[in-house]
Amino acid sequence: MTEEQYLKAIEARDKSFDGKFYYGVITTGVYCKPSCPSRPALRENMRFFETVDQAERQSLRPCKKCNPRDVNPLISIAGYIEDHADEKITLDKLGEISNLSPHHIQRKFKKSYGVSPKEYQNGLRLKNFKSALKDGDDISGAIYEAGYGSSSRIYEQIDGRIGMTPAAYRAGGKGEEISYAIRKCALGLIIMAATDRGVCLIHFGDREAELKARLSEEYPHATFNETEPSSELSNWIDALNDHISNGAEKPDIPLHLNGTAFQIRVWRFLMSVKEGEVLSYKEQATRMGKPKAVRAVASANARNNIGVLIPCHRILRGDGSLGGYRWGIERKRALIESEKSLSKLA
Ligand SMILES: [Zn+2]
Repeated sequence: MTEEQYLKAIEARDKSFDGKFYYGVITTGVYCKPSCPSRPALRENMRFFETVDQAERQSLRPCKKCNPRDVNPLISIAGYIEDHADEKITLDKLGEISNLSPHHIQRKFKKSYGVSPKEYQNGLRLKNFKSALKDGDDISGAIYEAGYGSSSRIYEQIDGRIGMTPAAYRAGGKGEEISYAIRKCALGLIIMAATDRGVCLIHFGDREAELKARLSEEYPHATFNETEPSSELSNWIDALNDHISNGAEKPDIPLHLNGTAFQIRVWRFLMSVKEGEVLSYKEQATRMGKPKAVRAVASANARNNIGVLIPCHRILRGDGSLGGYRWGIERKRALIESEKSLSKLA
């Protein structure tokens, strides 16, 4: 991660970065997790750490407000594996991140995730391999992208397991209560759905039944309730529609991102692409510091569940053609064109 990304996560008090890094404040002598509710410190007094141990080696104490030691070590481990699925990962490294002994890691990880860390990584690699293949890579390219050193063993592993999804990747909204509303908007019908943490889904379509089906496909284990017309969610839809059709300012709506660490990184990058700006998948991968991961980046874009607010429509093919769009190419064209003309006016 870059310093800018650290600062952004801290500013947003973004829980999804908890366990991924810590920051210390040298003037107060404490260190925090990114979501800490305390007042932000001056940049020059902040230091960043990957592990709790690194922070404590600098004689910093854990903050009492946010309890940085309290991050579930298994989540840190799973996040690390997702971020480094294409690399060699040692148990020692996982021990360093989580402060657990290798023996404990094996046992506890298996208990929570149903597989060992190694199997978890293999599952992620297979998934990356599969999506690279689906995106049109040839086999050797896909093998490379997924981080397999040589092509020999992959064929044994593919057998019967290629559809595996790691348990932690998406629990399908288990135990989650999701409110939603469906309205007409400038792009046809819109469904917006939210958990108590923020908006988790914005899709577009032509029929109500189709949109409802998509919501329950994405969150098969959640419970749903349709909200009242006067609800907050309803106001958010109005604000978003005003943004899409009248060029009103993009509403500041809290988002609840569900995806792998890599997907979330891709989506966060998309949110940094300005209105009126477009770039290619390749430029996106390069700017994210992953120039070789064009396919993986493109498929994470395609998995975006929060249309418009995560502006995946601003990414085009290398030749400038529109490429794909989850909600139809016409909607992509309309969005790009209206943003272009608005940014010219501004
Ligand atoms: Zn704190």
